[in-house]
Amino acid sequence: MSESTPFPPSPVVPATLEGQAPLQFRCRKGIACWNACCSNIDIALTPVDIVRLKQRLGLASWEFLQQYTVPYEMEKDGIAGVKLRPVEGGTACRFMTPEGCSVYEDRPTACRYYPVALLAMRKQDESVDRQYYAIVREEHCLGHQEPRTQSIDAYRAEQGVLEYDEAARGWRQLILKKKSSGPTIGKPSKRSLELFFMTCYDVDRFRAFVASDAFAGVFDVPDEELRTALVDDLVLLQFGWRFLRQVLFGETTIALRGEGVEQRRARVAEQRARLEREAAERLARDDDEGGAFVDV
Ligand code: SF4
Ligand code: SF4
Repeated sequence: MSESTPFPPSPVVPATLEGQAPLQFRCRKGIACWNACCSNIDIALTPVDIVRLKQRLGLASWEFLQQYTVPYEMEKDGIAGVKLRPVEGGTACRFMTPEGCSVYEDRPTACRYYPVALLAMRKQDESVDRQYYAIVREEHCLGHQEPRTQSIDAYRAEQGVLEYDEAARGWRQLILKKKSSGPTIGKPSKRSLELFFMTCYDVDRFRAFVASDAFAGVFDVPDEELRTALVDDLVLLQFGWRFLRQVLFGETTIALRGEGVEQRRARVAEQRARLEREAAERLARDDDEGGAFVDV
C-alpha cells in the first residue's frame, strides 16, 4: 500500500547550500521542456524587478502594478508582497512567447535564479544577514539532466543576479528585521503597511511623496542628495529603505526639520485641545437636556 500525505511533495531539495556548492543544470532553447516553467508561474517580485520591468514597458509603477501584478501576504499580519499576474484565466506568464521570455534582459530575480532558491537568513548569533541557497527540482524541468556543472555563485553571475541582489539587499534586510522584531513592531499599523507598499513597490508614487511640500516640511534632505534620488529609480529605492527604517524602526538617518516637528507637535496639541473642548461642550449640553451620558 502506498503512503499518502495531505500535501504534495515540495520540489525544494531540503538542504541549505553555500555559493560554492555545485549545480548541475542548463536551460537551453530546443530542450524538450522549453517554456514549461513559464507556463505555470508563481513569481514573487522584488522592488528592483518592478523598477526594471516598468522601465522596460514604459509604464508608471502604479500602472505596472495594476496591469501585471497581484498583491499577496508575504507574512501573516505583516508585510505585503507582489507577484506576477498570469494570463487572464490561465497560469502562464504574460511575457512568455514561443521563442522564450519577451523581457529576458529585465526578467525578474526569481526567473534568473531558477532552479536555485535564495534564502536570506540571519542566524541568531550573527548581526548581519547571509545568503544561502536551495535547489528546486521540478519533474517537468529537464535542465537538471544536462551535462554541465558549475558553482551556484558562477550560475548567479552568469544569470546577472549579482546586481539585482545588491540593489535589493536593503529591502531583504527590512523584511528580516520585521520578522525578528518584537510584538509591537510585529503588528504594524495600516498606515505603516501602506507606507511600506508605496516605498517598496510603487516607486513613482514614492517619488511624488518625497518631492512634496509635506515631506520637505518634516525631512531635511540635502538638495543634491534629493535631486539624485528623484531622477534615478534605483537610487530612490535605496533612499526608501532608509526612510522605512526610520519610520518603522526609529533608526534616524534622515535629518528632521526642527520647524516641521514643532509644527506637528503644535498641530497635535491644538487638535487635542479642540477634542477636549468639544467633549466638554457636549457634556454640558447633555446635562442641560437631562440626557444620557455619552462616553467620548
Ligand atoms: S518573466 Fe520571462 S522568464 Fe520569467 S516567467 Fe515570465 S516568461 Fe518566464
Ligand atoms: S530546462 Fe527548466 S528552466 Fe529551462 S525551459 Fe525547461 S523547465 Fe524551464
